[in-house]
Amino acid sequence: MKKLMAANWKMYKLREEAGAVAADLAARLAGVLPEDREVLVIPPFTALEAVGQAIAGAPGLALGGQNFYPSAQGAFTGEIAPEMLLDAGCRYALAGHSERRHILGEDDAMVGRKVAFGLASGLSMILCVGEKVEERQGGQLESVLARQLTAGLAEVAADVSPAALAIAYEPVWAIGTGLTAGPEEVAGAHAVVRAFLVDRFGPTGSKIRILYGGSVKPGNAGQLLGIDNVDGVLVGGASLLAESFAAIVTA
Ligand code: PEP
Repeated sequence: MKKLMAANWKMYKLREEAGAVAADLAARLAGVLPEDREVLVIPPFTALEAVGQAIAGAPGLALGGQNFYPSAQGAFTGEIAPEMLLDAGCRYALAGHSERRHILGEDDAMVGRKVAFGLASGLSMILCVGEKVEERQGGQLESVLARQLTAGLAEVAADVSPAALAIAYEPVWAIGTGLTAGPEEVAGAHAVVRAFLVDRFGPTGSKIRILYGGSVKPGNAGQLLGIDNVDGVLVGGASLLAESFAAIVTA
């Protein structure tokens, strides 16, 4: 299974800069991208075309969308449909990112609808889960992950292709804060996610990638990627510069 190295650019970068950074990233990775790594760039919607053009033809690089509404089309002002992401060249999309859960108010049921609808539309889905600091301190790590995974995967077929689904474990307290979960915390949470997936999907559950996210940097990526059940990373801040994200991808 290839490790999935994903760059979430959130609400950063206009088209010109996005295209230039993506082209720089593709150039830095040309010929040196390890065989066992797959790279995903997830820019804002307005930069999808520019980034898609910049990485077109670059082996191992793919495009993703940060969000969509779970309907084929319709009167949903301000929203975007999965088919529009596919039309813009996306293969992947995120669902359940903590910023959407906690700033935009998306609940578990909506996240589950997005995962199911995205898969049915032909996107590969990355379901993000993770606990808040007070939940971890209150001993609720396992119950929070179980709740988010149960709802997020509620309508996913038992025979889902493992290539079409990934889970990103992102402790909320480590996103954009500079705090990284320690190796034991990461190993423990990823083991909980893996056990859930095997229970839910049988042998397929051991082939579904589990990414870690939360202040991943060039200096800690190698160690994180060496932890059991860490099958890739989802990177925010440190993915905004081609140099630092290329260093993470090749760590
Ligand atoms: C993220 O956006 O998913 C993320 C983990 O951000 P950061 O790397 O900045 O913590």
